[in-house]
Amino acid sequence: MDFVMPQLAVGSRADAADGAALRTAGIDTLLSLAPLARPAEVALQLGLAVADRVALPAATIREAAAFLAGRIAAGHRVLMHCEQGISRSPALAACFLHEYLGLPLDESFARVRAARPQAEPHPALVASIRAHYAGADLPGVDLSGNENPVGPSPAARTAILRASAGLHRYPAADSGVLRDALARRLGLSAAQIVIGNGACDLIDLALRAFAGAGGEVLIPDPAFPAYRSAAARARARVVTVPLAGSCYAVAEYLARLTPATRLVIVASPHNPTGTLMAPADWARLRDALPDGAVLLLDEAYRDYAEGHDLIDAAADVRRGAPVLALRSLSKVEGLAGLRVGYGFAPEALVRRLAALCPQYHVGSLAQAAALAALADDAHRRASVAANARGRAVLMAGLRRLGVEFVPSAANFVLLRAPREALARLAQRGVAVKCMARYGLPDHIRVSVGLPSENARFLAALGELLREDHECRAAIPA
Ligand SMILES: *Cc1c(COP(=O)(O)O)cnc(C)c1O
Repeated sequence: MDFVMPQLAVGSRADAADGAALRTAGIDTLLSLAPLARPAEVALQLGLAVADRVALPAATIREAAAFLAGRIAAGHRVLMHCEQGISRSPALAACFLHEYLGLPLDESFARVRAARPQAEPHPALVASIRAHYAGADLPGVDLSGNENPVGPSPAARTAILRASAGLHRYPAADSGVLRDALARRLGLSAAQIVIGNGACDLIDLALRAFAGAGGEVLIPDPAFPAYRSAAARARARVVTVPLAGSCYAVAEYLARLTPATRLVIVASPHNPTGTLMAPADWARLRDALPDGAVLLLDEAYRDYAEGHDLIDAAADVRRGAPVLALRSLSKVEGLAGLRVGYGFAPEALVRRLAALCPQYHVGSLAQAAALAALADDAHRRASVAANARGRAVLMAGLRRLGVEFVPSAANFVLLRAPREALARLAQRGVAVKCMARYGLPDHIRVSVGLPSENARFLAALGELLREDHECRAAIPA
């Protein structure tokens, strides 16, 4: 092995396996670019799966350099090694010298070569390092928010521009035009429709109107955290209804209905599992409600479940059942930033929700955009079709990687995650949703993205799994 600076040596796998030599050199840390079980003398080892003769991923460059910087700053000595110590480890040692010691890149390579004359990083590695530091990295991808990767409905954007000319006027206080349009679509009357600033706003209103302080609300677990936070704001009493594995078990709901039940929450497709409640189960639950209780169906992801047997809440409302269905324009319509959603329920329930809304509750741009987006069938069809393709690619990729996941009817997939997956995916420029707040710390939720984004997620996850496989014998002491 050869020292490029007193705290950093570059060597071969044989050097790294020689415990006596490591002890003599005062080295207690390995950065292994070729698989090696941790020798007893080594306190900490990072194994990075790095192929020779192919471009280094930006995330690998960042991770290797940051690891070296952290250990060296903490006073440790590090040996980085690959098979022969000729290509991969000299290349990444130069990255560290450049990034953390501020040497120009050429000088960094020269410094490594001076210390270890046989070092000769492959041109593909050198080219990718040059591109990385020239700022040619791929931008990060965000697959954490279940947003529409296709973008907003173009018709909605046009409508917003047009409506902006009238921004000096107050909006229609009753969102009348939008409610009329929704009523026609759903086969209901406008008096059965309520508009909110996103479905979350309507969840809040429902908790306040129907549960209120001390009222009992049944909330599935795990579930979208907005239900619990809305219940806390309304000071309602939460009764948790466990899912059976990843699916609804209607018996768990039925067992918890009491005369004190005020509100019962179901989401179909469910977040975070992407599973559906069967219409027959829904009907049993609806028919078993105690007097005065309301059954809330959150259908934020309904469009993505095309082709499945879905609950027909509009039919329930037409028959006067105490049902409130919520839909969002944040997902398929791609208007998450605008904040608009709607609900439908029997008129008496809608009146109780509307009574809690302040004057001019929903802005004119939101009303105009929602009206245009709901009529934009081309955007909806394209979004749903792209999602179905991407979802199939993600699920097939997970199956290939041997990762446990829940088959999804929505625009996201819940999967069992490798150790510290969130941070390690983030290092590779891929953001996914942490499931700790959902009570599932060993899971992540990944949203379906564009084809290139789905491919990046699967590639990054594959890298993590290979690392874990190679480091299994080498967890930090
Ligand atoms: C995304 C989502 C919503 C939509 O919320 P908005 O406030 O309309 O953006 C509602 N319910 C669930 C379960 C969701 O995941």
